[in-house]
Amino acid sequence: MRALQLVDAGTVEIREVPVPEIGPSDLLVRVGAAGICHSDLHLLHFPVKIREEPLTLGHEIAGTIEAVGSEVDGRHTGERGVIYLCWSCGVCRECISGNENVCLAAGRTAMPPCPGLGPDGGMAEYVRVPARSFVPIGDLDFEQAAPIADAALTSYHAVRGAREQLQPGSTAVVIGVGGLGHVAVQILRATSAARIVAVDVGPEQLDLATRCGADLALESGPESVRQILDLTGGRGADAVFDFVGIDATARMSVESVAPNGAYRMVGLGGGVPGVTAEPAGGPGWPWGASVRKSYGGTRRDLVDSIALAQAGLLTVAVERFDLDEGRAALDRLDAGAIRGRAVLVP
Ligand code: NAD
Ligand code: ZN
Repeated sequence: MRALQLVDAGTVEIREVPVPEIGPSDLLVRVGAAGICHSDLHLLHFPVKIREEPLTLGHEIAGTIEAVGSEVDGRHTGERGVIYLCWSCGVCRECISGNENVCLAAGRTAMPPCPGLGPDGGMAEYVRVPARSFVPIGDLDFEQAAPIADAALTSYHAVRGAREQLQPGSTAVVIGVGGLGHVAVQILRATSAARIVAVDVGPEQLDLATRCGADLALESGPESVRQILDLTGGRGADAVFDFVGIDATARMSVESVAPNGAYRMVGLGGGVPGVTAEPAGGPGWPWGASVRKSYGGTRRDLVDSIALAQAGLLTVAVERFDLDEGRAALDRLDAGAIRGRAVLVP
């Protein structure tokens, strides 16, 4: 089968590889579509090889069950679904409490195993997955469903984690209206009465934000903080969702969040070590405000996100590419040329 693999730091290519073998508790899934996340770019640009043998990318996977492991109950071939990306232990205190995204087995700061970031992922014709990661999607389109596995899951989790702040009359700021951000705007619209202010660098992204339901769209820059403060009577935004995660957006978040507000750091853009985290907690940080470094989401967040899509309240803006065009699609994402989410179809 064909697979888009990271073969060395900075190098991805389509390679011919064997169809994966499955264990007794696994499923073999025929991939219908696989989304491209900015995290794939972070991985591509990571200076060291993350795995000795080539790694198939892709953690946003939708497809059909092709084969079922000998010890799997309750799943059958032909079922359509998405793959929950936290391949957590399932038995620790966090997992049994429904917080699989912060599974204790992963350690204090790592993340649970995730397809395409350790085990082989879904940018291929087939993928092996643990049976418990399979979540049915009914007749939802694969290209719509694949980005729900991360772009929606992670956005939903971040928004749900700020629900105390998202009361009627509140203001939510979404920084970075890309694959995650344009979905976050729709989730905010569908699940809260907050006024939504989107911030991005280009007119096309701001236009997408408005089409997704943002009340206001601001160009990102030195004026953004003052504009957000002006809009909120000087108090700041009740919730700020940072889907970029560089020093400039971290500072913008810190300087524009309200007292008792929520700052949710989702973007993994990185920055000067220490600078990103330092202002949160320092003298400029409002009393009572909370920061969460938000990772992925829970199974429940995924189920809720699928329900939003099935109810027509969440539509991913998809740019479709053939699997063979994977390298070119990654390059387009890197150049900031994708609007919404790029999806590969094998
Ligand atoms: P994307 O490339 O699709 O979107 C990023 C958006 O940010 C683009 O629209 C871009 O124009 C905008 N942007 C860039 N610089 C900006 C600035 N200075 N001000 C405002 N906007 C700016 O990326 P994505 O796939 O949506 O991922 C976003 C980030 O979230 C990445 O860092 C990714 O690695 C991370 N991520 C984190 C998690 C998690 O669980 N924490 C999960 C998925 C992705
Ligand atoms: Zn991702």
